[in-house]
Amino acid sequence: MQTNFTTAQLADPHVQESEKILRKCVHCGFCTATCPTYVTLGNELDSPRGRIYLIKDMLENGRPADKEIVTHIDRCLSCLACMTTCPSGVNYMHLVDHARVHIEKTYRRPLMNRLTRGVLAAVLPYPKRFRAALKLARLGRPFANVFDRVPALKPFAAMLRLAPATVPAQSATASPGSHAAQGARLGRVAILTGCAQPVLEPGINEATVSLLTRLGIEVVVPRGEGCCGALVHHMGREEAALASARQNVDAWTREIGNGGLDAIVITASGCGTTIKDYGFMLRLDPAYAEKAARVSALAKDVTEYLATLDLPEPARKPGLTVAYHSACSMQHGQKITRQPKDLLARAGFVVREPREGHLCCGSAGTYNIMQPEISARLRDRKVRNIEATGASLVATGNIGCITQIASAAKLPVVHTVKLLDWAFGGDKPAGLE
Ligand code: SF4
Ligand code: SF4
Repeated sequence: MQTNFTTAQLADPHVQESEKILRKCVHCGFCTATCPTYVTLGNELDSPRGRIYLIKDMLENGRPADKEIVTHIDRCLSCLACMTTCPSGVNYMHLVDHARVHIEKTYRRPLMNRLTRGVLAAVLPYPKRFRAALKLARLGRPFANVFDRVPALKPFAAMLRLAPATVPAQSATASPGSHAAQGARLGRVAILTGCAQPVLEPGINEATVSLLTRLGIEVVVPRGEGCCGALVHHMGREEAALASARQNVDAWTREIGNGGLDAIVITASGCGTTIKDYGFMLRLDPAYAEKAARVSALAKDVTEYLATLDLPEPARKPGLTVAYHSACSMQHGQKITRQPKDLLARAGFVVREPREGHLCCGSAGTYNIMQPEISARLRDRKVRNIEATGASLVATGNIGCITQIASAAKLPVVHTVKLLDWAFGGDKPAGLE
């Protein structure tokens, strides 16, 4: 694609990067076929190619964002299916991230939209606030239908519906400390505690610690870790996202200095995609660029790390048929496609893959709150495809997908690592009795 940025515009390293990305796009439109919003809405402006044109026009003309571009960029799930499909290697992720920062700086959103986004950014990344909010949501749930009648309040209705009926107690794996390897120590990793996941489903990191320590791996929960920053990053709140990234880079760098790390293990693929991008996000910060690149290189999804270990024979072969849902952040963001399925098969599960596996389930961070209608259509399509496999449960590696699919599926939805922990000698996941 031809671009017409001025020399002055190209002095900005963010514009320079976006220009490089734009120039790679050859307008072929292959990406439209796998874009969930184009498939759902059928509008070129809700396709990757359409969004790329909108972003180019906005950046090239140095214009503030307007309602049209905000509408179509807000509808993008950041699922990155377009990056998997694109034959020209267009890095849509970095382009849309830049566009979101530009929107955040130049566009004044309507009051309720600003308020909702402000509430999400102030609550979700902080486990204590999130836990308190979920408890409050239980009381508010009867009002979800009332909120649904006012368009500006629909996100609050979606929040109330997504809130679980009970909030699990806090787990020991969410506190700083070290979990010793059983037997001879074969490795040492840090685990990301995260923000929403340990509140909604602490059993995921418990299963990870149980499995890894049984396999001879010491698991450290470093002091000072926090939210990976993905949530605010996808809102275009770049300073907040970079502050989270720096905080985590500091925590893990200290741990690298203290005893060395073979990996930073992540059990939510949405967080994994962002942490693997810290090197890029902090590339212009001389104090952090090198440390951040080292952290990104160490970041591994738990299945990616497990696949490097010498696994014993499973303690039990559950023999259940599992529909494996590959989260977008897993398959498109991190290009991890083989390891989770291979590990499940190795553990004795029969693995089935739902049709249209490349399409997003509609969770996408806070998308199911901010865009509840499109999200529900994608969720229902996903659940239909999952149920058509005839499997007796669903395995996936991202808490957002678990919450989203479980809100409509009749089958139990379990994190992949909980099934692996069970097969290799751990506890049976709750809900499979
Ligand atoms: S990230 Fe997903 S929703 Fe956004 S343009 Fe690409 S394929 Fe479409
Ligand atoms: S597939 Fe790639 S090159 Fe083709 S239109 Fe989409 S982004 Fe551009």
